Amino acid sequence: MKVYVIGIGLIGGSMALDIKSLHPEATIYGIDSNESHLAEAIALGVVDAGATFDDLSDADFVVVSVPVDTAMTLLPKVLDVIGDNTIVFEVGSTKTPICEAVANHPRRRNFIATHPIAGTEFSGPSAAIKGLFQGKTNIICEVEKTTFKLQEKALELFKSMGMRIRYMDPKSHDKHIAYVSHLSHISAFMLGKTVINKEKDEQDIFDMAGSGFESTVRLAKSSPAMWTPIFKQNQEQVIETLEEYIANLTHFKDLLVQEDYKAIFEEMESVNKIKEILNGINIKK
Ligand code: NAP
Repeated sequence: MKVYVIGIGLIGGSMALDIKSLHPEATIYGIDSNESHLAEAIALGVVDAGATFDDLSDADFVVVSVPVDTAMTLLPKVLDVIGDNTIVFEVGSTKTPICEAVANHPRRRNFIATHPIAGTEFSGPSAAIKGLFQGKTNIICEVEKTTFKLQEKALELFKSMGMRIRYMDPKSHDKHIAYVSHLSHISAFMLGKTVINKEKDEQDIFDMAGSGFESTVRLAKSSPAMWTPIFKQNQEQVIETLEEYIANLTHFKDLLVQEDYKAIFEEMESVNKIKEILNGINIKK
């Protein structure tokens, strides 16, 4: 089996590690515009060797795992050169622009649009983790547009990595993910900014930071190169979620100004039900 991973960072590298572990006979090739990442991926054993687009014609699987703006221009070029039996999947955090970019490609049926809901705040091949996708959800969009035989091949691979499959149309995906992922990242970045601006002496932050601050601000370590195109592509949905979030923050501030601690208590108490919701999600996993 020949697998090509384009963009051999956190997600592409983690896919490569899982595929190699599940299919030791597979040869995993890496393609990356960052030569030091490719060299590092080979040195770490994340991929077996480097490759180029000219090699893609005999691929069984092509995994595209690059920033979402890059994916839009790169995917059609990948589909131009693959063979009839190749299945290409892309793992980006937005789905509508990517599905539209390949909608009329003659090889659209060789492509499956996915978003594995798994990751960390780190990037590059050294961030790749074996087993990252175990118990996680993989959202698949427009599955009916992929040839049945190739759908099955991809789904079998995802399930063997331990992923649960959920089907969604690209617009619903982008709307829901704006709340649970994109907003959380903006919130972490702006929390980090607020504290950094106030506490110019970074040592003070370090000394006083408890686990609450650290876990809340964790996502602010994420790569701006990856996140700027995500916010650009999902601008409309992200603005809508931000407006709701800002209204909630303003309301909380107003209650404090009014010294309405009963309302503040009730506000927090009503959100405590997030415990049951998250427990429910963990039980399903
Ligand atoms: P990453 O660790 O930064 O890896 C991306 C790799 O692709 C980097 O080595 C990057 O090089 C390379 N690259 C950039 N442009 C390229 C091109 N034109 N051709 C070939 N390689 C190129 O990023 P990641 O976190 O794995 O994210 C990859 C994709 O997964 C993104 O679409 C993201 O939305 C999606 N995703 C991420 C997460 C997460 O938690 N991180 C979760 C689910 C899905 P440079 O570093 O030099 O740019």
